[in-house]
Amino acid sequence: MICRTVKANLPDLLLAPKSVSAEVRAHVESCAACGKELQSLEATMALLDTWTAPEVSPYFDTRMAGLMREEQQAAPAGWLERIRARMLFGNHMHMRPLAAAALALIVAVGGGTYAGFGGFSPKPAPVQTASPVIKDLQSLDENAQVFQQLNSMDQQETGDNGGNSL
Ligand SMILES: [Zn+2]
Repeated sequence: MICRTVKANLPDLLLAPKSVSAEVRAHVESCAACGKELQSLEATMALLDTWTAPEVSPYFDTRMAGLMREEQQAAPAGWLERIRARMLFGNHMHMRPLAAAALALIVAVGGGTYAGFGGFSPKPAPVQTASPVIKDLQSLDENAQVFQQLNSMDQQETGDNGGNSL
């Protein structure tokens, strides 16, 4: 029996010995290399058993709520509202599903940036006046070409398929 095949079965041998064939068990007992591998795996698992997740700070929820409030107050409602209005009530009604997806993406990216940058330092960092996300929103709003390009792409697609692909 090839050692490589046996080694693939070693986790099973540790966790559910009965699921492993007698052939494998016999090999591990007779093969020094595989026996050593099993011991090492066993030691690793024993170590993992002793590991416990760190306690969450009792102030986590409070801090999180505070950061969220700050973020909401600092958020430039103007940009978001204008983009949302343009997307929902603009001329390109057929683009609404796409626009909604884009808006969702923007919000998701913004949330990710917030979660990554916000940190959980005891003293929340001062909110930057122009975060990368805000800059993105500004350029998106100013550069209507993006929407025009999407629109023409959509029209091309519609022409090819003879129907609304969205
Ligand atoms: Zn072996």
